[in-house]
Amino acid sequence: MQSGAADALAVVHEYILVCTDCPLHLKRIQAVPGSGPAGARIMAVGEGPGETEDRVGRPFVGAAGNVLTKLLESIGLRRDDIYITNVVKCRPPGNRDPEPAEMEACSHFLDAQIEIIRPDVILILGRHALARLLPGAGGISGLHGRKVVRGDRLYVPLYHPAAALYQGSLMRTLEDDMLKVRGYLDEAEARRRQPVQAAPPVAHAQAGATKSHSPAPPSASPAHAEPLLSLVAPEPGEPVLRLGSPGATEPPTPPEPPSRDQLSLF
Ligand code: SF4
Repeated sequence: MQSGAADALAVVHEYILVCTDCPLHLKRIQAVPGSGPAGARIMAVGEGPGETEDRVGRPFVGAAGNVLTKLLESIGLRRDDIYITNVVKCRPPGNRDPEPAEMEACSHFLDAQIEIIRPDVILILGRHALARLLPGAGGISGLHGRKVVRGDRLYVPLYHPAAALYQGSLMRTLEDDMLKVRGYLDEAEARRRQPVQAAPPVAHAQAGATKSHSPAPPSASPAHAEPLLSLVAPEPGEPVLRLGSPGATEPPTPPEPPSRDQLSLF
């Protein structure tokens, strides 16, 4: 089961490594697809590779990566247990911000990675990843550390670890937010342990009618068959933002279907 997701993720990585879909490929040393297990329960999404990542070929291996590793360890997680990637997979020259067109060109890769891994929690590292994954949700200063539900996915925006290198006071904020992430994961784990209620039997309309079949789970995500909506039922007083639901400030936004390019990957 798990090897199916790992194989699908490896295929996405292979496409990224040879991608020339935007100008960022021109000055890269190499593309940086992402790292971590296909069965990761947490996924972290940053902005784009920096100089060290471009050279090494792995995300978050520079100074900001060390901050991220320490933050994960502060809540009992090992870096190797989470899947880490970026909005754009090739380094913007001079570490400039990625252009909207570059993020758009690269978006189907991130969509495919999320669809394959289907993590319990997606950590959004910084404002560029926030704009890409939760457009219109608000700024990082208002959303950091909060659960945000969109479609069947649970996101937690955080300040980018690099920001704490330049503004020391943000380190404490990041540490506090990571403690909240620990709580969200514990909730997800508790919900996972709850017994799944059996679906009621399907009544056949008439003798000899064709037998009904349950819809098959997505082929790209065999390891995570249970619906993630079960993870996000809000408790009273919980700081949950449920985007795209009744009472939200923007119209409902269904999960985006895989793009044509994405489908062509499999
Ligand atoms: Fe392709 Fe993304 Fe790299 Fe642009 S940033 S060349 S779209 S992999």
